[in-house]
Amino acid sequence: MSKRDYYEVLGVSKNASNEEIKKAYRKLARQYHPDVNKSPDAETKFKEVKEAYDVLSDAQKRSRYDQFGHEDPTAGFGGSGFGGADFGDFGDIFDMFFGGGGRRTRNPNAPRRGADLQYSMTLEFKEAVFGKETDITIPREEQCDTCHGTGAKPGTKIETCSVCKGTGQQEVVQNTPFGRIVNRRVCNACHGQGKIITEKCTDCHGSGRVKKRKTIHVKVPAGVDDGSQLRVSGEGEPGVNGGPSGDLFIVLHVKAHDFFERDGDDIYCEVPITFTQAALGDEIEVPTLDGRVKLKIPEGTQTGTNFRLRGKGVPRLRYSGRGDQHVKVVVVTPTKLTTEQKDLLRQLGNLSGEETHEQQKSFFERMKKAFMGE
Ligand SMILES: [Zn+2]
Ligand SMILES: [Zn+2]
Repeated sequence: MSKRDYYEVLGVSKNASNEEIKKAYRKLARQYHPDVNKSPDAETKFKEVKEAYDVLSDAQKRSRYDQFGHEDPTAGFGGSGFGGADFGDFGDIFDMFFGGGGRRTRNPNAPRRGADLQYSMTLEFKEAVFGKETDITIPREEQCDTCHGTGAKPGTKIETCSVCKGTGQQEVVQNTPFGRIVNRRVCNACHGQGKIITEKCTDCHGSGRVKKRKTIHVKVPAGVDDGSQLRVSGEGEPGVNGGPSGDLFIVLHVKAHDFFERDGDDIYCEVPITFTQAALGDEIEVPTLDGRVKLKIPEGTQTGTNFRLRGKGVPRLRYSGRGDQHVKVVVVTPTKLTTEQKDLLRQLGNLSGEETHEQQKSFFERMKKAFMGE
């Protein structure tokens, strides 16, 4: 419940790049590392920062966290142990030697999947609760119609690169103290494309792609929450060499409501009642997401009492049914009392408690008249 949002922990926005996340983590890790920071909560802070980074730096974990928050039942990431190491510096060395850990040479003509795109959408409180259908317009790279994605001016020739013979890779032999090492590198002549365009397409300047604005119809399901992420399959950037398109991820931001607060599928609100209503009981009207409903306040209700309106919460995104609405009643102490009201209150204070229930009741009825003008 009290677990802080991972983005908040690192102090980055929900659509922060990996680089920003890494930077924020390094800064905080240095700040709270228990070897450096001797304040009592440094270790807790450091663990919190590390946990947030472990999740947000892993694309898969991050996407699940964006979808489910801390509640993801299948993730198994929360509470990873205290490693004690500052991985930031180690990461630098790793990057330096291994070029990011995974830059493999590849066939430039093999099909490649298009990049995923991210779009952020702001929703009104009730739109998140009940869902919404809308059109969004995103700038997206698409295949150039003029050259059909080849990048060459129509009617001109595309030549196979003579340096790499179309593989897009060059072999570089190095003599090192450990022996001869054969490295494969991206071909300098064709920049890994394997082909050389003699005359570039003027519309896309040889890239084979142009930026276009594309309108997409989006159905936001009922019950999404702030930070939820929707995936629209195949609406990312187009693939290369016949590869599939990437996906479009829509990150949702939900505005706060003046009266309702939301926690998961449940709605919380506070309703003021007079102390006469609290003492005598009453039926009041309470706003809900679906309009006003009647709520019975029993006789002798204390301030701070919670009432539950079943099924008046948020529709459950992954299950059927809805959450509940929790109504906290707050008894308002009257101010600016008339002489008659003050008199009655004094009498109330003087009641010995020996009166019968009937006598008390008639007394409260007089109070009700005095305070509520009935
Ligand atoms: Zn073109
Ligand atoms: Zn080449």
